[in-house]
Amino acid sequence: MLTNVYETNKKDMKPQTELITKRLDGKIAVITGGNSGIGLATAQQFVEEGAYVFIAGRRQNELDKAVKQIGKNVTDVQGDISNLADLDRLYDTVKQQKGRIDILFANAGIAEFAPLGSITESLFDKIFNIHVRGLLFTVQKALPLFQDGGSIILTASVAGSKGIKAFSVYSAAKAAIRSFARSWTVDLKNRKIRVNAISPGLIETPMSAELSEQVKTNLVSTLPVGRMGRPDEIAKAVAFLASDDSSYITGIELFVDGGLAQI
Ligand code: NAD
Repeated sequence: MLTNVYETNKKDMKPQTELITKRLDGKIAVITGGNSGIGLATAQQFVEEGAYVFIAGRRQNELDKAVKQIGKNVTDVQGDISNLADLDRLYDTVKQQKGRIDILFANAGIAEFAPLGSITESLFDKIFNIHVRGLLFTVQKALPLFQDGGSIILTASVAGSKGIKAFSVYSAAKAAIRSFARSWTVDLKNRKIRVNAISPGLIETPMSAELSEQVKTNLVSTLPVGRMGRPDEIAKAVAFLASDDSSYITGIELFVDGGLAQI
């Protein structure tokens, strides 16, 4: 893309023409949970960096709002990632409109708390159906649309590496996601598709808004950076993993957690 850049040299303010390439120019991206929180911030970041994004989420009204917020280069597809027919519909839409995928951000998720002793079958099924089964088929069903050299980013969590009260089911599901990143890096080696996990710490999104102020204050007091993270701080790291700036990085877990799980 050609952009006019004005040199801010006081003596000589001449317009110059400089080649500025956006990192994700022309890339086609799919983001699950792209209508809220981290997924929405990432969709905005991707579009800013030149990509076209497909956002998938469960609630149509939230998707409508997100599409308006993103403003351009976006298509929304309503659906539940734990429903395989919905995933087929998502990828059929991508195939019809763009014919391929370069970047997949498998990010959709929910959080529910229950201490050991009170874990119900339905809580276990819900969490594992979305985070483990749903994420697995989100990635597997995308593969036929991937070209060699793509990037897949999976949203894991610091919870996968920590012991957090009443959070064992969610944490175990996130640990499974981290493990998927390792194994799929090997499975997709010949296709040159990189797979990485991103592990956010405590981020200000509708999900964390459900925690009590007391819990958040206690958690923040233990953080080296002394504050919660913003969704755009995760989005920038995801854009890095999506772009060629991370061309020699695969199989990793990138913690973006203000130090939460690092000390
Ligand atoms: P959020 O509630 O703002 O967004 C979650 C998104 O996932 C929503 O768009 C929702 O519609 C979508 N979603 C949930 N279940 C779905 C399903 N079955 N099918 C399709 N879409 C579904 O929360 P967020 O904080 O942005 O969470 C995004 C991801 O980040 C999740 O995987 C979450 O576990 C992870 N995470 C969040 C934090 C945090 O502190 N907010 C920390 C670590 C990891």
